[in-house]
Amino acid sequence: MQSQHGEPQNLRTLLLERVIDGVTVTASVSPCAWMYPGHPLQVKFTLPDGDEATLRPREIPFDSATASDVRTLLDRVRLCKCVKCGNPTFDPETVSTRPSRDCRACVKAETDAHFRSTQQLAERGMARANAEKKAEGFTHRIDGWIHPDDGDDRALTLWMRNPTTELIFAELRRCGSEVSSDYRVVAL
Ligand SMILES: [Zn+2]
Repeated sequence: MQSQHGEPQNLRTLLLERVIDGVTVTASVSPCAWMYPGHPLQVKFTLPDGDEATLRPREIPFDSATASDVRTLLDRVRLCKCVKCGNPTFDPETVSTRPSRDCRACVKAETDAHFRSTQQLAERGMARANAEKKAEGFTHRIDGWIHPDDGDDRALTLWMRNPTTELIFAELRRCGSEVSSDYRVVAL
């Protein structure tokens, strides 16, 4: 693999592995290294859990890079314990990754929790709106989509008293929709 002038062609399919603290780290060259002329070598490291990190040594142009350059970069990678669960993750001191030292699973758990709480807030807001409308005598909520003949579709929420299909159609058309059948009815 090694040659004085580099073998970029072979680097495209190169796959190196190294076991660090019992964890297999895989190294491969990122496609951007050969897709853009003059791009430096860029190596992607992958952990078994799917987490990824990179190194892009500016001093090594892809055109002159060799497999041993990739091996040298892989040798620089260290792992550390996730600050939240203790599982192995990339050490941000050695490779380009999240500086937070948390593993992929913990990042995902946090993102999911954030999404859930945002959704709960939105649902709570809707539940409150429904209660208010019900107290005013409305019986149903219509979640509809307005499809204008030009411009983007937009969501429409409205509350109605004993709506018939004709009344819903009329409302959606009155709000500018060319289509009158894209909605759902929620009983309060
Ligand atoms: Zn973790």
